[in-house]
Amino acid sequence: MSRILIDDLPFDLTVPVAIVGGGAAGLCAALAAKEAGVAPIVFERDALPQGSTALSAGLIPAPCTAAQRAAGIADSVAAFAADIQTKAHGDADPTVLAAVTEGAAPAIDWLTERHGLAFTVIADFSYPGHSARRMHGLASRSGAELIDRLRAAAEAAEIDIVTEARVTALVAAPDGRVRGLVVTRPDGSEDRIGCDALVLACNGYGGNKDLVAEHIPALKDALYFGHPGNQGDAVLWGQALGAELRHMSGHQGHGSVAHPHGILVSWAVIMEGGFQVNVAGERFWNEASGYSEAALAVLGQPGGIAYDIFDARIAGIARQFEDFRRAEAGGAVLQAESSDELAARLSIPPQVIRATLESVADLKRRGGRDGFGRDWTGAADLEAPFCAVKVTGALFHTQGGLAVDATARVRRPDGSLLPNLFAAGGAAVGVSGPDASGYLSGNGLLTAVVLGRIAGGEAARLARA
Ligand SMILES: Cc1cc2nc3c(=O)[nH]c(=O)nc-3n(C[C@H](O)[C@H](O)[C@H](O)COP(=O)(O)OP(=O)(O)OC[C@H]3O[C@@H](n4cnc5c(N)ncnc54)[C@H](O)[C@@H]3O)c2cc1C
Repeated sequence: MSRILIDDLPFDLTVPVAIVGGGAAGLCAALAAKEAGVAPIVFERDALPQGSTALSAGLIPAPCTAAQRAAGIADSVAAFAADIQTKAHGDADPTVLAAVTEGAAPAIDWLTERHGLAFTVIADFSYPGHSARRMHGLASRSGAELIDRLRAAAEAAEIDIVTEARVTALVAAPDGRVRGLVVTRPDGSEDRIGCDALVLACNGYGGNKDLVAEHIPALKDALYFGHPGNQGDAVLWGQALGAELRHMSGHQGHGSVAHPHGILVSWAVIMEGGFQVNVAGERFWNEASGYSEAALAVLGQPGGIAYDIFDARIAGIARQFEDFRRAEAGGAVLQAESSDELAARLSIPPQVIRATLESVADLKRRGGRDGFGRDWTGAADLEAPFCAVKVTGALFHTQGGLAVDATARVRRPDGSLLPNLFAAGGAAVGVSGPDASGYLSGNGLLTAVVLGRIAGGEAARLARA
């Protein structure tokens, strides 16, 4: 389906900026292009633009926003960039890293002030690897609300979003300039749309089993928790046009998906002093290293299953997330008045659960690191009633993609730029490097929102020139 046509046939319509995909990246690109003075069109394959953005928790990290200042949290762009680069083991492209970290607060403030998205900072717990509390979310802490508000903003800005419009081919000139695209409708009819600049905002390849097996073989049989329409079109088109693909094995996994309910259980349950055990009731890793690498850690346990263990106080914090409330309503969160009742509900010998709870309590009392490397300093003790959720690991989204420069222009392997092609969000390489462990919380929406905004503005400038 991801064809490149080299032809000079006419177009049904020509627009200055065409955008493929109506997730966070595409809608932020559209808002920015419109503000830069052109009328973009977004082409979205679904009947309603949602994407992985709607499935996400909708949390976007940014340092020094108005919301963060109002919450009295000290932070800096340098600290944010250092946190991302540390987690990425130094593999994040410094130019793109600088662009997204410097652009993060202006993008959040822009969405708040100009488009009415009232972000607040999650101030009651820290995400792994972030040296400051800087995750921003809307009231429900859900991506569904984020995409609804972005769509409303696009509609208020009178941006055309063409739905049920799957882009099935790009039309290019021999030098790699994109002349337009082919949109295929559900009834099989096709429209040819010309454009001066094109933004690929159609995410990565998480929904494409063959590409996952090729680039992330360890997760080829894992549950894919992202949007199924993300079939890798951007990387396939880019590759055919001579673009550089980078860090294709990079991805975000998650090791806390309620099973069999299939609902994300916030990592807050771990970071606030909870832990994971396998079906034998034993801890098996340093849970505080991050939820992305947790996918493989959990899938490596018997049956690919683990239990998140926490308490009622922590459940109170996690309840700010709509997903957690859904998990509770769906019966995924067990409560037990004692460690013996917890053991019975998990079918684990009571002496094993008791020993694990006691060893964690002891680690918290003593502080410092355990044998897995987890630092328990300052962690509050768990108190009955205890809570538990049976979880598994999943692939959330891919982080590898098209190499871009600081203006979101797609690059070739020799560093030269494709004439008029931009990429943002999951279509572009992220700032997480080639490993799951390189993913810092929020890297996904960071490059969707910030790079999307940059791509839209730059595509508009190119189209006007
Ligand atoms: C459960 C879950 C929780 C997450 N939580 C967070 C979080 O809290 N914070 C964070 O930073 N990240 C999170 N992520 C990752 C985040 O969702 C993604 O990084 C982000 O949504 C990517 O945005 P996007 O606009 O690039 O892609 P998407 O939102 O997936 O949008 C891409 C759009 O392109 C459309 N499309 C694809 N191909 C075509 C085509 N050929 N023609 C037309 N349209 C096409 C798709 O239908 C889709 O609507 C989470 C992911 C999951 C799965």
